[in-house]
Amino acid sequence: MTEQARLDYVIKLICCSIFDEVDSLDFLKKSQNSCERAKILETDSLEPIKFEWALSPTPRLLLPDAQGKLIWDPLAAIFFLASGYELYNHSISRDKHNRPIEADLCTPQANLHRRALCHEWAQELLPNARKPTFRAELQIDVDMPWAYRHKTITRALGGLTRDLINREFNEVKQRTQVLLRRAHDPFDTYQDIIRLASDNEINLRLFFPVGNTSFFDKNPQPKNKAYQALIKQIATQADIGLHPSYDTSAKPSMIQEQISALENICERPVIHSRQHFLKFELPSTFQALHAAGIEHEYSLGYSTDIGFKTGMCVPYPWFDLSTNQETDLLIHPFQIMDVSLNDYLKLDPQAAIVESKTIIDTCKQHGGELCFVWHNSSFHFDGPYWKGWNQVLPTLLEYASN
Ligand SMILES: [Zn+2]
Repeated sequence: MTEQARLDYVIKLICCSIFDEVDSLDFLKKSQNSCERAKILETDSLEPIKFEWALSPTPRLLLPDAQGKLIWDPLAAIFFLASGYELYNHSISRDKHNRPIEADLCTPQANLHRRALCHEWAQELLPNARKPTFRAELQIDVDMPWAYRHKTITRALGGLTRDLINREFNEVKQRTQVLLRRAHDPFDTYQDIIRLASDNEINLRLFFPVGNTSFFDKNPQPKNKAYQALIKQIATQADIGLHPSYDTSAKPSMIQEQISALENICERPVIHSRQHFLKFELPSTFQALHAAGIEHEYSLGYSTDIGFKTGMCVPYPWFDLSTNQETDLLIHPFQIMDVSLNDYLKLDPQAAIVESKTIIDTCKQHGGELCFVWHNSSFHFDGPYWKGWNQVLPTLLEYASN
């Protein structure tokens, strides 16, 4: 019955994703039967709803009951965050990339976005439940496979002209040296990345873009032979996934094409994906990914901060609010991204380590899956942007793996 779908989902989410407690399903269902219920769990509507925070002694997200009175219903609060309910709201304020503004979402508003709230609330319901085993994964978005090599003549000349106009003479020198094969391309950092993951015994996954080149998509065309060879080679050393292009969120029909292009190159099914610029629409992007055969989605995380965008730090099945059904598309939330630390939060390397460690601690405490999102270009420590960051990721990976 549709009125039960959300309640059944959230109870299963708690017992089978947040905890490893399938035997507690009936207990949790029964113990919650007589509790006050927020309306969100008894409807199939996805209308915007009002909420309020009660912050003391522990944070509680109050949601309206059938009469509109704001109440504390932990199951409803977990459902609201984990389902990404706010992200379906078309009147939500948007940034220049047409993405929902993160600071306007409910947990950043209350400065609670660095807490895994769904796990905290679930623990109040089942204090002695078994947690899953903590694991960490290093994920690399290969937005620009090379800084200088393997570009079309037009793009190579365009880059050179831009450097000359901007009087970036170091860039001109480096570009020329790389193109003359006298220096290594600074974004060709793949073997360092593979070694780093292997030294820390952490799983490694690289996401490759294979859509058309555009203002926001700097990858070579998928027919580029050197790019094909790179993907093929990496696929023998690490897990790979698709990095759907910037405009797939507006044109979800392009997703299938890009999956096929990557499958043709790596000669294996592609079932993992993260959106470039973390740009997606709910439900259309996830529906298109799912329909095209993607089984694991990795876009749910903050770009402007670190933390827990849906209050979750374990993989869990996506609930499609538009059909009011649980799906078998598995969401893998991520918690820490390189550009969030450097670009948005403007942290120095030492502060980036300190602040990230608290997120790692939280993930460990809940038996979560910690996803680090980095870029191959962020290992270019001689460039101006990542100077001094050499030890940040190694320190964090070592901390996570101990
Ligand atoms: Zn990207």
